[in-house]
Amino acid sequence: TARLAASGLGFRYEAGTPLLEEWTAGFSSGEVVAVTGPSGRGKSTLLYLLGLMLAPASGEVLLDGRPIHSLGDAACARLRAERYGFVFQDAALDQSRTVLDNILETTLYRRGDRRRDARLARELMERFGVALRADAKPGQVSGGQAQRIALCRALLGDPDVILADEPTGNLDPGSSDVVVDAFRERAVSGAAVVIVTHDPALVARCDREIPL
Ligand code: ADP
Ligand code: ADP
Repeated sequence: TARLAASGLGFRYEAGTPLLEEWTAGFSSGEVVAVTGPSGRGKSTLLYLLGLMLAPASGEVLLDGRPIHSLGDAACARLRAERYGFVFQDAALDQSRTVLDNILETTLYRRGDRRRDARLARELMERFGVALRADAKPGQVSGGQAQRIALCRALLGDPDVILADEPTGNLDPGSSDVVVDAFRERAVSGAAVVIVTHDPALVARCDREIPL
């Protein structure tokens, strides 16, 4: 289980306007929360801050009450591999590696049984309809497949914090439902799920909406 919180968070890109001024919110195990708002408001940036890919200019990110925004690179990488699942807006797959190796990427940073991880990866791929693409390179798959492959990577290892940026942006309604069902299942078994989305059907299936 996890309790993720942002406290007084603020950020600013070089030469950009301030984003998320004094932003405070909490996300708990069991809930699926939608973060919405107009383009440019800082939704993706918020996920990068919660996911420890950017350091806040002010405020804190707390996991189970512990500040985590100022951890060193190694500790960050381990924490992310052990507890986080992150779905980037553009899938962000490594073009030089096969689809299966992309999905197994985070397992390189944590202890585990490689054979079991590979089996679980294949189960996720079956579920998301991309099993036949296991040995392909990401450049050979469609946008919707890439998005579902990125989801497999994020869900492998049962992370208890799931951060997803427009996870259904390239998907038809049927595939979107499969994705939401998977997030809901993870929430029921203890994950805190934060989704940035413009998709009203997805927002409707979340427990809460936080407009930015
Ligand atoms: P969104 O759909 O969330 O608004 P964008 O299309 O604005 O995303 O941004 C896509 C990518 O480009 C992101 O990785 C973002 O960090 C980067 N980006 C957006 N705006 C700028 C900018 N002004 N300068 C540099 N990079 C940017
Ligand atoms: P949203 O996801 O709500 O569309 P973003 O977090 O992508 O918003 O971006 C917030 C603002 O920051 C936008 O004005 C965007 O152009 C700018 N931005 C995003 N990434 C970068 C970057 N890497 N460098 C400079 N500006 C950026």
